[in-house]
Amino acid sequence: MTRTQVICAKCGTELREDSSLPSKERSPCPSCGSLNRNFKVILEERMDLHDRLTLKLFLPGIKRLMERVDSGESMYKKTGDWNVLVRKYNRIKNEYSEEIKSKDEKIIKIVKEPLNQHKGHGSAKKNQKK
Ligand SMILES: [Zn+2]
Repeated sequence: MTRTQVICAKCGTELREDSSLPSKERSPCPSCGSLNRNFKVILEERMDLHDRLTLKLFLPGIKRLMERVDSGESMYKKTGDWNVLVRKYNRIKNEYSEEIKSKDEKIIKIVKEPLNQHKGHGSAKKNQKK
């Protein structure tokens, strides 16, 4: 985002004057009466950082993933909101759970079911192809 600040060249007062205003139409600076101006062009960019941790457990001699935990921020694509996700997948205990909360701790989704009954998305999708 770009914005332009109009500043009195003599005293430095920030003026509420359009930067495209022709110099002949300027009103004198309310502080010092000067008609000279400086323009300060401000560039602003915002960057947000989000983190998420994934743990994967494999056991010796077994190719399949035994346990997976995802914990961290997750963007809900429909709204663009960042929520807090904790997803656990445990083949040994046959458990699947997913908990999604908004930043202000409101529960958006809670799923807890046996892993062999969990179907349709995420890690279950990949397993259905096998
Ligand atoms: Zn001034």
